Amino acid sequence: MTIKDVLDYIDENADNIVRDIKRLVQIPSIAAQNEGLFEAAQLVRTMLVRSGVEARLNPTKGAPVLTAQRDVGAKRTLLFYDHYDVQPAEPLHEWESSPFDLEERDGRIYGRGVADNKGDIVSRIWVLRAFQKTNTPLPVNVNFLIEGEEEISSPHLPDFLQTQTDFLKADGGIWEFGSTTPDATQEAWLGLKGILYVQLEVDLLSHDAHSSTACILPAAPYQLVWALNSLKDQEEQIQIEGFYDDVKPLTKAEKKAIDKVDLREEQKLEYYGIEGFVRGLTGDELKEAYYNAPTCNICGLISGYQGDGSMTVLPAKATAKVDFRLVEEQKPEDILEKLRAHLDSHGFTDVKIAWHEGYPAAKTPVNHRFVEIVKQATQQIFDHEPLIHPTSPGSGPLYLFKDYCPMVSVGVGDHDSRAHAPNESVALETFFKATRRVAVIMDLMGKW
Ligand SMILES: [Zn+2]
Repeated sequence: MTIKDVLDYIDENADNIVRDIKRLVQIPSIAAQNEGLFEAAQLVRTMLVRSGVEARLNPTKGAPVLTAQRDVGAKRTLLFYDHYDVQPAEPLHEWESSPFDLEERDGRIYGRGVADNKGDIVSRIWVLRAFQKTNTPLPVNVNFLIEGEEEISSPHLPDFLQTQTDFLKADGGIWEFGSTTPDATQEAWLGLKGILYVQLEVDLLSHDAHSSTACILPAAPYQLVWALNSLKDQEEQIQIEGFYDDVKPLTKAEKKAIDKVDLREEQKLEYYGIEGFVRGLTGDELKEAYYNAPTCNICGLISGYQGDGSMTVLPAKATAKVDFRLVEEQKPEDILEKLRAHLDSHGFTDVKIAWHEGYPAAKTPVNHRFVEIVKQATQQIFDHEPLIHPTSPGSGPLYLFKDYCPMVSVGVGDHDSRAHAPNESVALETFFKATRRVAVIMDLMGKW
């Protein structure tokens, strides 16, 4: 039995595969609301076992982590990272069909999680089933790591993985999501940025005061605004001493890869209703910023009176939430220390860092052999090479995998999938191609 039989089996079982997606979508496993998680994990486990894969539900302090393994003694091992939790479905009235039931319309299936990431889970499990049912020897060993808290920043995954590093050792790994450009070109994402998120607080007076006292009393909102002002200049240069020390320029190979990427500047400007990007960036410089610039961004700023009319008050307290997107090599703990040192040395010892969280960035090298395999498999199934993004501007727990396995993100989603939004969907044609691509990736890895 050959890979051809495996691909045919996937085609012949299209209805059964969609039925499995439906079963999984019908469980509203919303991590933010701690709902349906165990039930969804159990169903995924059943699907794995039915496909000949040993699977375990590992308890954590939150939702269970599913680990599954099929060791066939092959030279290479493929790892899948997925999550069975989904985002809440609100606002419900914007859905054209029930978010927790599957509906097919015009060649697409709609439901919460079909793109992010339940469709991928079912797709990947069915590839194993196809190998099993056609008696085709698996060309690789396969590990699955399927967690249930991805949509709330994977709070319990780092602890869990500390004891499971052997499980992460693989020659290649497929990350949870996939996408296409608006003209349906497949995209492969090789990295995710890191993040440091802080809450800054200034609390100067024992209570709010009459604003006439501003002539003699210190003002918390001003102190906070001055501190924020010191973090970044109007040229977007972050002024924290040593902030850029560990930032490396993009490699030649990365630059070559992004040469092929079109960031669709005109559409973006129109979409956001702006005349230009920061610092007048365009072309290659804009791309470099997109892939390789760390950020300092004010997410929220609160102080004093915001109601109708006037209230003459001198607020006692002011708070801001600030996030820094970090690039590879920048460490959140180091940036946190540098932020504290910056505030102290600029006269802002009274600006407290009241809360923080974060993790570093991670990237798979553009010219890694596994990336080549994903490219070849995409060419074979989709008839074109995928665009290679050295990293996404977004963040995720990829750093946990980085030392053990090169990860690439490709999957069943497309440019119109609307993950996290109402009417989430995937195109059936792309779904089945992406499913067949997983089989071809395994086949190619077997020859590596
Ligand atoms: Zn998501």
